[in-house]
Amino acid sequence: MLYILILTPECNGSCIYCGGFEEGLMPKELKFTIEDLKNFLSNDDKPSIAFYGGEPLLKLDVMIDIIDKVYAEHYILQTNGLLLHRLPKDYVREFSTILISFDGRREVHNYYRGNYDKVLKNVKEIGKFFDGELIARMVASRRTDIYEDVRHVISLNCFTHVHWQIDAVWCSRDGFDVWVEKYNRDVLRLFNFWIDEIGKGRIYNIVPFIGIATAFKKPFTYPPCSSGFESFAITTDGKVLACPICPDLEWNVLGDLWKGFRVGVEILDPCPRCEFFSFCGGRCLFFNRERLWGEDGFEKVCYTVKNLVKALKSKINEIPDVTYPKFLNTTEIIP
Ligand code: SF4
Ligand code: SF4
Repeated sequence: MLYILILTPECNGSCIYCGGFEEGLMPKELKFTIEDLKNFLSNDDKPSIAFYGGEPLLKLDVMIDIIDKVYAEHYILQTNGLLLHRLPKDYVREFSTILISFDGRREVHNYYRGNYDKVLKNVKEIGKFFDGELIARMVASRRTDIYEDVRHVISLNCFTHVHWQIDAVWCSRDGFDVWVEKYNRDVLRLFNFWIDEIGKGRIYNIVPFIGIATAFKKPFTYPPCSSGFESFAITTDGKVLACPICPDLEWNVLGDLWKGFRVGVEILDPCPRCEFFSFCGGRCLFFNRERLWGEDGFEKVCYTVKNLVKALKSKINEIPDVTYPKFLNTTEIIP
């Protein structure tokens, strides 16, 4: 199982599309001990631990202490990359996967995050000696051209993978309906580029493509992030959640470190009876259960999934046998 440890809800970034955790949702420091965590994980002989925030590198000492004292088959880090230079080399090498928030072209990244050069410098430094997965984790928002921005990440030649999530449902719908039409076209353009490159013997690790291609062999039965099924988040006060992003929602709280937790969250209609379910798994628990943009907004977002899946289906014979991810690493697969 994957355990996503929220080391702190605080963040040192100020990205336009991210409000962070609301004040008061959880304490700023861990309220449980390393022993509590060890006892909790002792029921699992192959735990993976993902450090998450806020910005987890703000709690570097705690992270190092946990790596020193708590066994995990895989350590994973999700970071904005600003403090990566402070993580000692020997600890960088402990990670199987490091996901870095990176939005593509300089002007796009800087508009949303404002720190392109600094983050890229840190990524390049790490790339010199880190041989795990180094994933560019993009938010695709209204200024994103998914074709151009993913191609840009690939051209940098310093990330091993690129993944993205569309900025939808949590945010205002302003501009989405127009943007999404272009997004769907650009995804197809990117997909055709990917297929052409496969024809030339190169396979780029574009996570939504290789992740959905995997579902042709092993269909999804729940959201591909596995939240609530094989992936659980632990808040700073020791609650066990299905998904890390909404600690205040009742359906999302599955237990705590001391009393244990239940596995499974009901996936609501229409997903279980949707013809795309085996490739999509209902996309995201939050999306499935909280219809913040109403049914019409739900369908608009679903259309992005269907567009992507149909593209993969149409070229399935040209796609090599891929399996991704090899272990849960917090990538959601479906953008
Ligand atoms: S495409 Fe939409 S309706 Fe179908 S399974 Fe995915 S999220 Fe659910
Ligand atoms: S895809 Fe949805 S359910 Fe899964 S981790 Fe992200 S927000 Fe949570």
